[in-house]
Amino acid sequence: MTGSEDGAVSALSFGGTEAPLGRRTDVELPVARLPTGTWMSLPLAVIAGSTPGPTVWISAAIHGDEINGVEICRRVLEAVDPSSMTGTLIAVPVVNVFGFVEGNRYLPDRRDLNRSFPGSRRGSLASQLAHLLLTEVVDRCELGIDLHTGSNHRSNLPQIRANLDDDRTRELAARFGAPFVLHAQTRDGSLRAAATKRGVRVLLYEAGEAERFDDDAIVVGARGVLSVLDEVGLTQGLGSSAGRVIEARRSRWLRSPRGGILRLGVDLGQTVERHQTIGIVSDALGVGESVMRSPVPGLVISAIRHPLVGRGDAVVHVAEDPQALR
Ligand SMILES: [Zn+2]
Repeated sequence: MTGSEDGAVSALSFGGTEAPLGRRTDVELPVARLPTGTWMSLPLAVIAGSTPGPTVWISAAIHGDEINGVEICRRVLEAVDPSSMTGTLIAVPVVNVFGFVEGNRYLPDRRDLNRSFPGSRRGSLASQLAHLLLTEVVDRCELGIDLHTGSNHRSNLPQIRANLDDDRTRELAARFGAPFVLHAQTRDGSLRAAATKRGVRVLLYEAGEAERFDDDAIVVGARGVLSVLDEVGLTQGLGSSAGRVIEARRSRWLRSPRGGILRLGVDLGQTVERHQTIGIVSDALGVGESVMRSPVPGLVISAIRHPLVGRGDAVVHVAEDPQALR
C-alpha cells in the first residue's frame, strides 16, 4: 500500500504495480515461465473506489475448463464504476491460466488447483499459484465469490454453496439470488477452505457445465455478484431483486445401476418424488433396460449431459428436503 501525507491509503500495490484509488488498474502477476521461456502471468483487474470500504474478490476458472465465470467477471467489470464505489473489487477471471488455455480442468502437473490451497512459494506449480492468489488477493479481502460450473459432462442448476451456519454468509447467499443454495462443508485444500481459515467469507457459485457459455448461468451469476456488491456497500443500485430462493442442507448423487445408454427423464430445477423414474439405461439395441428411480424426494440440482454411462456413474444430484430461503 502507498500512503499519502495524512496517512490515508491512496493506492494498493500488486506485485509492484500500483493501483490508485478511484480507478481501474489491470495487473499481470508473473506465475512461471513456460518451457519456451515465455512468462505465464495471472491477469487481474483492481477496481479501487474513490473512498475506502470493503474489499471483495471474484474469481473464475480455478478449474481451467469452467468458463461461465470468466464471462460473469467480464460483465461485472463492465457494470462497475470506480468513481462511485466505496471499497475495492479485485477480479481474477482466469485463475488456472495454464488449464484455461488448454481447455483442461487441471494444471500441467495434473494437480487440481482447488485442492492445492494454501500452497507455498516453493511447492508444485499448483501450490505456487494457490499461494500467489492467497497472498496477493484473498489476504486483502473480507469476502470472495468463486465461480465454478459442473464438471465431467454434468450441468448444474445455478446455485450457491456456502457455510449456511454463518448467519451473514447465509444472508449474502440469499442476496445473490440464485434459485438454489446448498449448505456445504469446506473441502481440504480448496480456496474456500483456505479463505475461511483466514476469516474470509466465501460464496461458491456453481452453474452450467464446463467448456460452454450458458446464458442463464451467466445472467444469474453476474446479477448475483452485483447484488452482493450492493449488499456489502461496495456499489449502489447495480443489483436486482431475484425470485424465490430454495435452500437445502443435504444432497445425494443418484448413480447408474449399469453401464449403457441413458435416457434421462428429469431436468434441472425439477422436483422429484420418492420412487419417481429418473431415467432408463439400456444397451445400444434397447435390451436390458434398467429403470433408475429416486430413493428420496427432492430437487434436481445437477444432471449428466452425456448419455453414455458406466455402472456407478453420477447421473443426477438431488437436494433433499428443500425449503424456501426467501
Ligand atoms: Zn470447479
